[in-house]
Amino acid sequence: MTWSFTLGRLLGSELRVHVTFFLLLAWVGFAAYSSGGLPAAIENLVFVLALFACVVAHEFGHALMARRYGIKTPDITLLPIGGLARLERMPEKPMQEVAVALAGPAVNIAIWIVLVALGAGMPFETIAQIDSTGPALLNRLAYVNLLLAAFNMIPAFPMDGGRVFRALLCLKMDRVKATKVAAIGGQMVAVAFGFWGLSTGNPLLVLIAVFVFVAANSESQDVAMRSVARRVLARDAMITEFHALSPSDTLATAAQAVIHTTQHEFPVMGADDHLMGFLTRERLFAALAGDHPRSDPATSVMVTDIPQVQLTSGLETVLDGLHKGAPAIAVCSQAGNMVGYITRENIGELMVIRSR
Ligand SMILES: [Zn+2]
Repeated sequence: MTWSFTLGRLLGSELRVHVTFFLLLAWVGFAAYSSGGLPAAIENLVFVLALFACVVAHEFGHALMARRYGIKTPDITLLPIGGLARLERMPEKPMQEVAVALAGPAVNIAIWIVLVALGAGMPFETIAQIDSTGPALLNRLAYVNLLLAAFNMIPAFPMDGGRVFRALLCLKMDRVKATKVAAIGGQMVAVAFGFWGLSTGNPLLVLIAVFVFVAANSESQDVAMRSVARRVLARDAMITEFHALSPSDTLATAAQAVIHTTQHEFPVMGADDHLMGFLTRERLFAALAGDHPRSDPATSVMVTDIPQVQLTSGLETVLDGLHKGAPAIAVCSQAGNMVGYITRENIGELMVIRSR
């Protein structure tokens, strides 16, 4: 997630704020100031900040429940439409997923109970009016927590309610199909949100609709990809016919190789098929565009920390390696010689072939 910066660490997760969050604050402050002056602006800003503290608490509900199942949450990002806890992975046992999904809304219910105990009533107000001056802060905050819990339980995958729905579907069908069904449901709800938001002139709803629509699709694809990956070994996915460079090859030689082959990355192999690194097309072009002499060795600009897997390693390990940014993953024999490699592009091809 770019365009966001770190506030600090809390309970083992990095707390980040997206820059557009400040646009929301500015909009709320400005709207209140122009209708009710400075006191209204301050009251509304305090309210929005308190509301987002509740949103953060909601996300920590997910994160702390996930931790019980050994899943870390590297970061939690605040967006104008709510919070986003990025879990390292999703629990695949349906009941664990239900517990993680419910933990967020449960936190808001708990906050609501505490606020009611502190004397909050139940005014009729909607989230569409969070920029207006209204009854006491406590009442609004209590109501909005109830609303947050209810809203998140709408069964639109990947919102919390949709995750519960997916987990229940998993009891009846396999996970890939369950995710696909839940994602289609989520997208239909998102379209309804979108129309509702447009017809009532509520930009927040439209934003949420777009977000849910896109997220449902990408998570559904990710689940399908991981499921294919689990059934494929590195040796079935690797590129075995390739042009390799030797450590004595120059950048000029490498440039010729880029032209004469369809490869975008070239292994640099020493004696006994020992892998020294990968020269990528991007690195080569950058070097040639800079002031690297064309007679420099290819080894001077190659990527050296290439992850290695065994022939019988699962493709999931490879996906994780590529996910961390490596240009290629080397597949090695037990003796440590590179016998092939895997790139993002050939995994893409494999997915098209295997997922039918
Ligand atoms: Zn949630």
